Amino acid sequence: MSQSLQALDRAHHLHPFTDFKALGEEGSRIIEHAEGVYIFDAAGNRILDGMAGLWCVNLGYGREELVTAAAEQMRRLPYYNNFFKTTHPPAVKLAEKLCALAPAHLNHIFFTGSGSEANDTVLRMVRRYWTLKGKPQKHWVIGRENGYHGSTVAGMSLGGMAPMHEQGGPCVPGITHVRQPYWFDEGRPEGQDPEAFGRECAAAIEARILELGEENVAAFIAEPVQGAGGAIIPPASYWPAVKAVLAKYDILLVIDEVICGFGRLGEWFGSAHFDLAPDLVPIAKGLSSGYLPIGGVLVGDRVADTLVEEGGEFFHGFTYSGHPVCAAVALKNLQLMEAEGVVERVRDELGPYLASRWTTLADHPLVGEARTLGLMGALELIDPVSGERFDKALAAGTLCRDISFRRGQVMRSVGDTMIIAPPLVITREQIDDLVTLAREALDETARCLAPRLAD
Ligand code: PMP
Repeated sequence: MSQSLQALDRAHHLHPFTDFKALGEEGSRIIEHAEGVYIFDAAGNRILDGMAGLWCVNLGYGREELVTAAAEQMRRLPYYNNFFKTTHPPAVKLAEKLCALAPAHLNHIFFTGSGSEANDTVLRMVRRYWTLKGKPQKHWVIGRENGYHGSTVAGMSLGGMAPMHEQGGPCVPGITHVRQPYWFDEGRPEGQDPEAFGRECAAAIEARILELGEENVAAFIAEPVQGAGGAIIPPASYWPAVKAVLAKYDILLVIDEVICGFGRLGEWFGSAHFDLAPDLVPIAKGLSSGYLPIGGVLVGDRVADTLVEEGGEFFHGFTYSGHPVCAAVALKNLQLMEAEGVVERVRDELGPYLASRWTTLADHPLVGEARTLGLMGALELIDPVSGERFDKALAAGTLCRDISFRRGQVMRSVGDTMIIAPPLVITREQIDDLVTLAREALDETARCLAPRLAD
């Protein structure tokens, strides 16, 4: 059965972010069902999902309440749109709930089907805003190298992933990128103090604003903690310094909460952890715990007031903006998270516990740094002989990822950075297992690499 599925997959299915030829040769893994924090493959192997799918299954797998919410809504109204002066109860109730959970100045939401569409919406909205303000020349958006904001053309242009730009270019004009606050790879090798490095990265934003001219810059966009870039937690000095720069100039702050929102960092929104007051907040993923596709942009009063009061028609929207079934599931997901105190548990109990356990991996010879924030964590792999990064040709991160999967745990690799972001309903015992499995994967990786390091 699984072999015939693999053959059909090879014959017809082009996977996202995949080398089609290489996968065709290896064959894909087939995930069959899931429960709690575990996924099960077609051979019946149980695998601890250390990545909550793609950073999204915050409530874990198998929640019947979400299934029921979807089925009930599907029977009542499986589809209707929010165009042309119509709406439906799930979209209205979800909008109200999101604005109640968000910081006080965020009182509007524009729904989308995904995080990428949310960031496309951001670009359309910030440019619309400044045009309505009588400053259409204020159209440049500053993003960050190695930031990730999606895979649509605008999403990949706002993001700073060089391989995506090389394949997907030319990018949308009027977007530029500044350096990322990645101390381990960009500050540490220079012997820099992390806090001085954080301030230097914020100063790079100011330098770019001055280069472009403040009168031409619309917005700065960033993730609170870079996710796909490598679970990069900025030095403590970074965000206060960025805030000070943006306050000095009249520039909107866009905080992409697609990963950090809905409890990942121990707050409903990651911007609360860093005390940011963003003007626009793209969201997706954990909004529905990934059960159905839905995203959106929370819009602060400053922008919403202008769009509403002075706007006229905004020529933008998607067939599935605020889809009733997705909205009903997202609403139920938020209600369950609230009723079960999921976010508070991450902040007060599970986040600190993961930190205490995960950082014990720092003593492993392959680990140059072990860090966490909330329920997100990373390990920086280093060559134990040189204490520096491995030769890229060894693909140590990919090796460790594949070993980990085979041994029963999903850990993602970004280059030689290993990442975890488990479901937020993980238990302490399961965190213990996760750390043990990570250590075993590191041990096996070290054994595999040892002969190649000797010569
Ligand atoms: N922004 C961030 C920060 C993300 O991590 C992602 C997805 N990994 C996106 C946007 C894009 O979301 P989607 O894949 O739902 O389009």
